[in-house]
Amino acid sequence: MEYDVIVIGAGPSGATAAALLAQRQHHVLLLEKSRFPREKLCGEFITPECLNFFDRLGVRERMLDAGAKFIRRWTLYAPDGRGIDIPMEWIADGHPHAIGLSRARMDLILLERARESGVDIREGFHVSSELECRDGLWCIEGRDSDGGHHKFSSPIIIDASGRNGAFSSKIRQPVSRLDGSRLFGCKVHLRNVQGLGENGELFFFADGYGGLSDIEEDQGGPRTNLCFLTTEATLLQARGDREKLLDLTLRSNPAAGRRLSSAVIDGEWLGTGPVTFGRQYSMKGVIAIGDAGAFIDPFTGSGILLALTSGELAARVITEGFAEGVRNFDALSERYRRIHGRQFGWRFRACSSLRKLAFKPVARNALVALASRHHQIMRYIALGTRQRFQT
Ligand SMILES: Cc1cc2nc3c(=O)[nH]c(=O)nc-3n(C[C@H](O)[C@H](O)[C@H](O)COP(=O)(O)OP(=O)(O)OC[C@H]3O[C@@H](n4cnc5c(N)ncnc54)[C@H](O)[C@@H]3O)c2cc1C
Repeated sequence: MEYDVIVIGAGPSGATAAALLAQRQHHVLLLEKSRFPREKLCGEFITPECLNFFDRLGVRERMLDAGAKFIRRWTLYAPDGRGIDIPMEWIADGHPHAIGLSRARMDLILLERARESGVDIREGFHVSSELECRDGLWCIEGRDSDGGHHKFSSPIIIDASGRNGAFSSKIRQPVSRLDGSRLFGCKVHLRNVQGLGENGELFFFADGYGGLSDIEEDQGGPRTNLCFLTTEATLLQARGDREKLLDLTLRSNPAAGRRLSSAVIDGEWLGTGPVTFGRQYSMKGVIAIGDAGAFIDPFTGSGILLALTSGELAARVITEGFAEGVRNFDALSERYRRIHGRQFGWRFRACSSLRKLAFKPVARNALVALASRHHQIMRYIALGTRQRFQT
C-alpha cells in the first residue's frame, strides 16, 4: 500500500509529525512496535514550552484532565546537598509552570490525536531495520504482533524511532568507551515521597545525576517519578541490588537521602543504555526527528520539547516541499537537516559543555558556588540550554 508519508515510531515526535501532516490532508501511515499505553524510560517532566505545542495540537486540556501535576520550580542540588532554585517562569514561554505526567498517559493522548486527525496507525508493528529505496519510493517491511508480514511504500520516510531506533543506530558515531564510564539510565515510580509539592528536584552525585518529580495519581494514590543516569561501573558495583544502586547514586546526595527516607518503590524498573548524546547520523534521504535525529542531555528536561519541535518542523518542511512540487526525499531531508542544525545547534553545543562541567567535580563545585552567590548565572545557563523555535 502506498502513502504520502510513513512515520516509524509513535513517541511524541512521531505522533506530532503524523498528526500535523494528516491535518494538512496528507495520507500518513504511523507504525509503532508497542501497544499503547506503555511505560517509557523518562523523567516525565514536561517543560512549560511543551504546553504551547499541546495548545496547537488541541490536547493541553486532555493532558491536564489526565491528572498532570503542576511544577513551578526546579531545585538543582550539588553532591554535597547545596541547592539552587530555577523558577519555571525563567523558561515559561507563556505558561508559568511545567507539568509532570507519565509517558504512558502523555504518549497515548498524542497517539489518539494522530488517530483523530486521520492517520492510519498500526500498533504492535515492528519495522525491520532494512529500508529499501526503488525508483524514488521507499519500501518498508515489518511484522505485526501476530507474525504477519506486511510491506508499505512512500516517497518520504520519517524516522521517529527514538534513541535506539533501527535506522540511525547502525551508522551512529562510535563514542562508547569500555572503561566503565558509559552512561545508563534507570527509571521507577515511587510512593510516599514527602514534601515535593509543586517542586521538581535534580540531584547530582559522584558519577551522574537524577531527578524526582510528581506525576499523576492513580488508584493507589500519589506517585513520583525517579529517573537517573549513572555509569556502567556503578551499575556493576551494585550487582543488581536496587537498594544498593540507590545508595550509590541518588541517596548519596544528602538532600535526596532526606527526600527518599520514607519512599517506597512501586512499579517496574526500566533501564536503557549506553546513552550517547548529540546528533545521530540517519540514512540519506530519511528525515530523522526527535531522539532518532539528535539526543539532548536529560538534565535539560527538554527531550520531549525537542521531539515535539522537530515533529512540527518535519511536518512543515514536507508540506511546504510538496506545495512547491518537490517530491525528492533527498532534497527534503537535506532541507530539514539544515533548518534543524540552524535552530538547535547552539543548544546541543551548550549542553555538551555543561555535561563536561557536570562530570568534573572541581569545575562543578566552582560553578555551584558561583551560581549560589549570583542567581542570574543560573538563569543564563537555563536559557542557554534552550533556544526559542521560530515558526
Ligand atoms: C534517563 C532519561 C531521562 C529523561 N527525562 C526526560 C524528561 O524528564 N523530560 C524530557 O522532556 N525528556 C526526557 N528524556 C528524553 C525523552 O525521553 C526523549 O527525548 C523523548 O522520548 C524522545 O521522543 P521520540 O518521539 O523521539 O522517541 P521515543 O519517545 O523514544 O519514541 C520512539 C518510538 O519508536 C518506537 N519504535 C522504535 N523502533 C521501532 C521499530 N523498529 N518499529 C516500530 N516502532 C519502533 C518505540 O517503540 C517508541 O514508541 C529523558 C531521557 C533519558 C534517557
